Amino acid sequence: MESPALFWMAAGEEVRCLLCPRECLIRPGDVGACGVRKNVAGNLFSLNYGLACVAVDPIEKKPLFHWKPGSRILSLGTVGCNLFCPYCQNYHLSRFETVAGLSEITPEEVLRLSRERGTPSVAFTYNEPTVWYEFVQDASQVLKKAGKGVVLVTNGYISKKPLEDLIPQVDAMNVDLKGFSDRSYARVGGTLDPVLRTIRIAVERSVHMEITHLVVPGVNDSLEEFEKMVLWIAGVSKRIPLHISRYFPAYHWDRPPTALSDIEAREEIASRALDHVYAGNLPRRENTFCPACGTLLIERDRSGRVKTHFTDNGACPRCNTSTGIVKS
Ligand code: SF4
Repeated sequence: MESPALFWMAAGEEVRCLLCPRECLIRPGDVGACGVRKNVAGNLFSLNYGLACVAVDPIEKKPLFHWKPGSRILSLGTVGCNLFCPYCQNYHLSRFETVAGLSEITPEEVLRLSRERGTPSVAFTYNEPTVWYEFVQDASQVLKKAGKGVVLVTNGYISKKPLEDLIPQVDAMNVDLKGFSDRSYARVGGTLDPVLRTIRIAVERSVHMEITHLVVPGVNDSLEEFEKMVLWIAGVSKRIPLHISRYFPAYHWDRPPTALSDIEAREEIASRALDHVYAGNLPRRENTFCPACGTLLIERDRSGRVKTHFTDNGACPRCNTSTGIVKS
């Protein structure tokens, strides 16, 4: 649905979109690089407002491991993305051509669906929520008023002002950190600094943060760069869970899947600096332990069952170390 967009300025007949660091200059009748923001007679419109696919997922699938573990979450996505990963694992939703499979929905219907399905929270996920900004903001306000949790699963590639305006409505984020250099980000059509800024601002505003890093052969496979990334994360907070994921061939990238030894090498490096490191797609590595005494805090089995053993305020029951885990 076409709806007036936020964050843009007129530039003659063209408009400059200010939503993400790309700052597209868009000619009349054209769309920006994300494919979902259009110049209509000198005004910018969002083309995907209220167009969604909806599902209910275990929250661990986002992945969020330390925020309401074991709960289920209403998950909404649309089309459009402002980065261009050649290995995109969700490419059927990242481009605008696939809009035909989506249904119309209002912010109030999102709340109704969340109540009907009994989910304590709602995630904006699957595609990039930044380029769904106006709908995410409207729906988040309705959800927050009703006491629902709001989650963004995002690439973090958003400009400062839109992020700061949205963040009071956001409880938790998983940011996909694609590398730790402009060289790695050039492979996906972006730059690193805006993503780091998003993580820093969100943590400063007490948003629960988890980070995913997909290891893609030929894109971000430098161990030196990975080590720098981990040290940077630890400098923000060593309690931020890091999910290291294996890539599988998709979209335009046909290299073989990430070798298990490559994941294990990163797991070892990250574990030296961070309290909680998970190796995605390797279920035996997905339990949570107290970083101080090693007590098992959260058990996750292959069938998706989750058992928690931490205290109501997220501390270890044995040594009382605070972990930052948020109970359902
Ligand atoms: S949100 Fe879309 S149109 Fe706006 S600057 Fe980013 S890619 Fe361009």
